[in-house]
Amino acid sequence: MTTLTSPWIVMKFGGTSVAQPKTWGLIAELARKRIEDKRKVLIVHSALSGVSNLLEALPEQALKGHGEASVKAIKLRHLDFARDAKLEGQALLAEHFSRLDQLAAGIALIGEASARVRAELMALGELMASALGLACLKAHGLKPYGLDSRSVMKAAFEGEDARAYLDNAVEDGPDSYLQTRLDDYQLVLAQGFIASNAHDETVLLGRGGSDTSASYYAAKLEAQSVEIWTDVPGLFSADPRLTSGARLLSALSYEEAQEIATMGGKVLHPRSIGPARRAGIPMVVRDTFRPELPGTTITEKPGDDAPALKAVSVKTGVRLVVMEGSSMWRQAGFLAEIFACFKHCGVSVDLVSTSETNVTVSLDPDPGLDEARLQRLKTALEAYCRVQIVENTAAVSLVGYGVRRILHKLAPALEVFQDKPIRLVSQAANDLNFTVVVDEDEGRALAVRLHDGLIGDADGPVFGPSWAEITAPVKAKPQRPDPWWRAKREQLLQNAPREGGLYVYDRETVHARARAIAGLKSVDRAWFAMKANPHPELLKTVETTGVGFECVSLGEVNRVREVLPDLPMDRILFTPNFAARSEYEAALALGTHLTLDSLHPLHHWPELFNDKNVIVRLNPDRPRGHHQHVKTAGPKAKFGIPLDQLDDLKAAVASSGVNVIGFHCHAGSGVTEPDHWKELGAILAKAAEHFPDIRILNVGGGLGIPESADAPILDLELVDQNLADLRKAVPDYQIWMEPGRYLVAEAGVLLTPVTQIKMSFSTRFIGTGTGMNSLIRPALYGARHEIYNLSKLDEAPSGLASIVGPICESADLLGADRLLPETEEGDILIITETGAYGRVMSSHYNLREPAGELVI
Ligand code: ADP
Ligand code: ASP
Ligand code: MG
Repeated sequence: MTTLTSPWIVMKFGGTSVAQPKTWGLIAELARKRIEDKRKVLIVHSALSGVSNLLEALPEQALKGHGEASVKAIKLRHLDFARDAKLEGQALLAEHFSRLDQLAAGIALIGEASARVRAELMALGELMASALGLACLKAHGLKPYGLDSRSVMKAAFEGEDARAYLDNAVEDGPDSYLQTRLDDYQLVLAQGFIASNAHDETVLLGRGGSDTSASYYAAKLEAQSVEIWTDVPGLFSADPRLTSGARLLSALSYEEAQEIATMGGKVLHPRSIGPARRAGIPMVVRDTFRPELPGTTITEKPGDDAPALKAVSVKTGVRLVVMEGSSMWRQAGFLAEIFACFKHCGVSVDLVSTSETNVTVSLDPDPGLDEARLQRLKTALEAYCRVQIVENTAAVSLVGYGVRRILHKLAPALEVFQDKPIRLVSQAANDLNFTVVVDEDEGRALAVRLHDGLIGDADGPVFGPSWAEITAPVKAKPQRPDPWWRAKREQLLQNAPREGGLYVYDRETVHARARAIAGLKSVDRAWFAMKANPHPELLKTVETTGVGFECVSLGEVNRVREVLPDLPMDRILFTPNFAARSEYEAALALGTHLTLDSLHPLHHWPELFNDKNVIVRLNPDRPRGHHQHVKTAGPKAKFGIPLDQLDDLKAAVASSGVNVIGFHCHAGSGVTEPDHWKELGAILAKAAEHFPDIRILNVGGGLGIPESADAPILDLELVDQNLADLRKAVPDYQIWMEPGRYLVAEAGVLLTPVTQIKMSFSTRFIGTGTGMNSLIRPALYGARHEIYNLSKLDEAPSGLASIVGPICESADLLGADRLLPETEEGDILIITETGAYGRVMSSHYNLREPAGELVI
C-alpha cells in the first residue's frame, strides 16, 4: 500500500508530448509546480512520436538495402529537434548514432535481425529522446538526474524467444534500493519501454509499454500517484479518433480501465494498470496540451457504480483459431487437450466461445507470434479436430458494470450483420465486458454505431464533454459592429434640430434585431415588449419578422390594432400589472393572450376566467438588472406570484375554472449572462410540474445591450444554445421570449444642439437643447449613454465636461465627466442607444416640448 507520506509523483509523457522542444517547456513547468509543492518528480518518457515505428521498420528496410536512408531519416528527426532547441545535437547523440549505424549495418550484413538486435535498436528511440529531454530540462533551469531505466527495470522472464526481448515484464512492488538511490534528487528523468535481462541485454516491455514503466516506477517508489500525460485529456468512452462523439470519463475503477485498455483503448498499455492497482496508487490520465483539464482518475472505486455502459473499444489485428469436429461432443477432457496445445506452443488465448461441435478462440495481436509457431500450433491441434486460422478480425467490446443488462439494445447496431458473419461472441464472467469479433473492415464502423447509439448521449456523474466539444474552436466573442449612425452621420447632421431635440431611429437596425430574435432556434414565439418604443413605423417593421407584440396596457393594445389593423389577436400578448378589472374584460373580449400577475383576479373575479386560457407570471426571486428600478423579481418586486404561493394558485385555478396554460417570469433588464433565460425556464418548468395544463414557458426579456464601448456584449448564439439545453430537458413545453430594449435601443439616437458652455468651479458644463424631459433614464436609473459631438466626431478630445439639459432640476444631467473635443454653441451632440425607453418616457416638464421622432 502506498504511504501517504511518499514525496514521489511519477509523470509519464508519451511520444507526442516529448516530440518538440516547446513541449519540454510545458513538461518543465508541470514538474516545477510539483517540486514547489514539495514533491519529488520522476519523469518517464517515450521516444519522439513516430520514431519507434521507424526503428521497428528499420530491419526490413536494411534487408531491402534501404537501411542507410532510414537511419538518416531517424537521425535527422533528432537533429531537427536539437536545432530547434538550440542544442548541440551531434555531440549529445553521438554515442547513440554510432550504435544505430552499427546495428543497421550488421543487419544488412548478416541478412537477418534477431529479437535481441531489434530490442536494442528500438531502445535507441527512448535513449535518444532521453539525451535531448535531459538537456531541455536543464535549459529550463531544472536540475534533473538522468536515470538509465535498464539499471532499474529487470526482466521478469528470460529466454531466447521474441517475447522475452520485445514484450517482457518487470516484477513489481516497492524497491527500497531504488528509493535510497534517488533520495538526493528532486527530479529524475528515466526512459519508459526499456528494461534489461540477467545478461544485461536490453529488453522491451511491448509496444506502448512506457505507461507500464511509469506504473512500475510508481510501485517501486511507493509514489502518491502516477500521471499519464498524453495527447487526449483522459480516457474516453471510445477512441476520440474513431468518433468525435466520444465522451471524457472523469473517474473509473482500475477494473474498468483495465478492461478498456485490454480491449484496445491504446491510451493505456494493458499491463500498466496492474502494478498501480496492486500498490493502491491512483492513476490520472491527462493532456499535456490542455493541462487545465482534470483528466480521468483511476482508483479502486468506480466513479459511478450504477450499471452503465462506459466505453466501446476496438482491437484490430486479432486472429481466430476455429476448431471443429464431431469428436468433441461429450468427450471428457477435449478442451484440456486442445488448451494443452496452446500452452506447449506458447500461444496465449484471449476470448473463447464453445458449442457442441465448434470451439473458437481469439489471439491478441502479438509481435512475438511468428508464422512458424502458428503452424506448429495448427499441426498440434489437427490431431484432435479440423482447424482454421482466420486472420484480420476485429474485437469490438462494450465495457461497463452490468453490461448484460443492455444487451437487448444492441439489436439495431447489429442489423448489418444479417449477411456478414459475427465470428465470435463472448461475455465476460465479471459482467464488465461483452465482445463480438467481426471482420476487420467492419470493426470500426460497428464500434462507432454501438458507441454513438448507446453512449453518445449518456448521462451520469462520470460522463464529461465529448471530444467534439473539447476541441471545438474557442468561439470568438461577439464584436460590436460599427454603429449605424457613423455611416449616416451626414444625414443625421442635415436633419439635426436647431433647438430642443430629435430622436432618430434606424429602421434597418430594428429589422435586423427583430430578425435575430425571430431566428432563435430554441424559441417558439418571440414578442416585442413594445413599451420600449411604440413608434408606429417600428411596430410595422417588427411585424414583418413574425415577432408578436407584448402589451402592458389597453393603450398599447389599441396602438398595435390601429397601426396593424389586420394583425390576428393571436399575435398580441397582454401582460398588465395591477390593472383594473375592465382591462382584463376588454382583453378577454378581444381574444388576445393574457398574462395574470397576481391571484387577485382569480380570487375576486373568477367568473371572468372560467374556462379561459391564461398565462401566470411568477416571481422566481432572482432579481437581475442594472438598477433597483429595473429589477422585476425578488422580494421587493411588485410583479408576479411568489413561488411559495403555488398551492394558493392551484386552489384558485380549481375554484375559478381557469386553464393555466403557461408560466411567465421576467427578472430584470440589462442581462448579459447567456444562461439567465435557461435558468428561469428551469425554475418555471419545475413549478409547472404541478400544473398539468401548462405547455408554455415564457422566460421574459431583459436581453442586455452594451451601455458603453467596453461593456460586455450578450452572445445571442449562446443564449440560444442554453435554451436548447432547456428544451432538451423539458421537451414538452414551448419556449417564449419577450425582449424590448434589445430590438430598439441601439437603433435610436437623440440629437440635440449645444446651447451654452459654462465653467463652474472646476466643472465644465455643456448645455443642450433638451434634457430629462426627453431622456429620463440617466436621472431615473443612473443609466449611462455614450455622448459624442457629432459635428466634430473625429476630433481629439480636449477635456472632461458634464452634459446637462435646460430643465430646472439638478438631476437634469445627461452625462457626467465625458471626454469631448473642444465644443461650441450650435454643435450637435448625439446621445446613443436611446431607442428604448427614450421618447416613450419623456414628459412636458417645465412645459418644454420633448424631442420629436424621425425614422430613417
Ligand atoms: P502516448 O504517445 O502519449 O503514449 P498513445 O498514442 O499511446 O499516446 O495513446 C493516446 C491515444 O490513445 C489517443 O490519441 C487516442 O487516439 C487513443 N485512444 C484509444 N482509445 C482511447 C480511449 N478510450 N480514450 C482515450 N484515448 C484513446
Ligand atoms: N515508444 C514506445 C512505443 O511507441 C513506447 C511508448 O511510447 O509507450 O511503443
Ligand atoms: Mg502510449
